[in-house]
Amino acid sequence: MAYKCSLERMSDKIKTFAQYGDAGHGGITRYSLSEASTQAREEFVRRMTAIGAKIECDDVACMYATLEGSDPNAKRIVMASHVDSVKNGGNYDGIEGVMTGMEVLETVAEQKIPHRHPLTAMIWTNEEGSLYPPAMMCSGIICHDYLPADLAKNFEYDNMMKAEPMDESPFKNFGEALAASKWKGDKANRLSPDKYLCMFETHLEQGPILEDNGNEVGAVQLVMGMFNYRVRFHGFTAHAGTFPMAKRHDALYAASAFLVKMHEEFDKIEQGIDPEFVYTTGEIYVHPCIHTCINDEAEFSLDVRHPDPAVRERVMAKLKEMAAQEWCGCTCDIEEQWVRDTVNFNKHLIGYVEESMDELGLKWQKILSGAGHDAQFCAYVIPTTMIFSRTQKGLSHCEDEHVSDEDATAAASACLNAVLKADARFEDDLAKD
Ligand SMILES: [Zn+2]
Repeated sequence: MAYKCSLERMSDKIKTFAQYGDAGHGGITRYSLSEASTQAREEFVRRMTAIGAKIECDDVACMYATLEGSDPNAKRIVMASHVDSVKNGGNYDGIEGVMTGMEVLETVAEQKIPHRHPLTAMIWTNEEGSLYPPAMMCSGIICHDYLPADLAKNFEYDNMMKAEPMDESPFKNFGEALAASKWKGDKANRLSPDKYLCMFETHLEQGPILEDNGNEVGAVQLVMGMFNYRVRFHGFTAHAGTFPMAKRHDALYAASAFLVKMHEEFDKIEQGIDPEFVYTTGEIYVHPCIHTCINDEAEFSLDVRHPDPAVRERVMAKLKEMAAQEWCGCTCDIEEQWVRDTVNFNKHLIGYVEESMDELGLKWQKILSGAGHDAQFCAYVIPTTMIFSRTQKGLSHCEDEHVSDEDATAAASACLNAVLKADARFEDDLAKD
């Protein structure tokens, strides 16, 4: 029998949490460790202590609310996401996963659902990194020792504490904000493989795929691998009015020609129809950037994502081939910023999610995550998976971001039943591998 979460209670949480950091026009700005985030954390404490959950904080202010199970020696099953938002973000990114963890615990407590493992609802600190970059800062710190070295080096504890604010803040850096926060606790409370069995993160999809396919929820299989490069063009500058067109080496013109050709070539690699293959130029920089001068330097970012490393390699080979050529009389060079492997989620946990969605009679599909989440770092530490909920118009990181109360409740019910299956079967299933 499938258990169901409460639409009424989930709706109430969505309404309540939307007040904390309310920007006054439908969305929120709730930076990590801000006053608004403290209000959201206090609400979490209120609701979790009301059902008898024990609250703990770790040394980077991640919060854990735990309902004991019948076996005092069993490891915890955790459901986690974040309460912080981007500037002028919406009422779902991050907080939906926290509300899901709370709703699962509330349902278990209310319906007295038997379970052997302790169940934990968790808040990751500073996922967005909007005030104190980088994104996924605290999952990066907590999972640091388990991450590949080239990822881990971006999350050294001491460097993270020195992260300076990108917007107004009463604190000089993240470390100061953390020290002043009432949520800084004990390092011994960190999520770790000796205390935690597995992790589930529920999140809005942030794209239109579920909606386009008429599905309510998605069983996430993996987080796509990606590479991020800078592509630079070198020409020379001269006066806009006095220098003949034929003699120019205009770096912006070169970059533009390259960009158009790059789209044509990349689209040929996967015939332009593979929905999993995405690439973006989000930043562009030119020098001297004066309207009376020809630009001698132009540079743009290139973000490429696909689950299959062989496809990413073909894209990379094409990029290198193009960069070796001359463009409108300018030379080109490329520089790697970062590369991240595809992170596969645990097949048993994915199976429990899919079974639960079937049992609940939900419309669902397998789906991939193009965005990064705390779950992708956590997957290096303990078995992890994610559930996506339908995102209206595919919008996120904006005030129009929306998930219906019904869809959020459906995702929470899927999470609840998947957690109960993990509670009953996960250790046995692992032993059979
Ligand atoms: Zn998020």
